[in-house]
Amino acid sequence: MSAAWAGGTDAIIERMDKMTALFIEQTKNSIYTGESAEFCEECGEPIPESRRKVIACKYCLPCQSALEKK
Ligand SMILES: [Zn+2]
Repeated sequence: MSAAWAGGTDAIIERMDKMTALFIEQTKNSIYTGESAEFCEECGEPIPESRRKVIACKYCLPCQSALEKK
């Protein structure tokens, strides 16, 4: 039993809530939820319609991958 879990159930739940909130924040930053752009905002290449339909995106696949690696 780790000392980090000391403090009872309430403390654990509070910690889980913070982790969930953090996860949601990170997801918001990596997934663009607005309208899909027709052209990549990074390199100006047209974004394939198949990609735009699956996920709202502002970048083409190579640029998105590069940004997510940062
Ligand atoms: Zn691009």
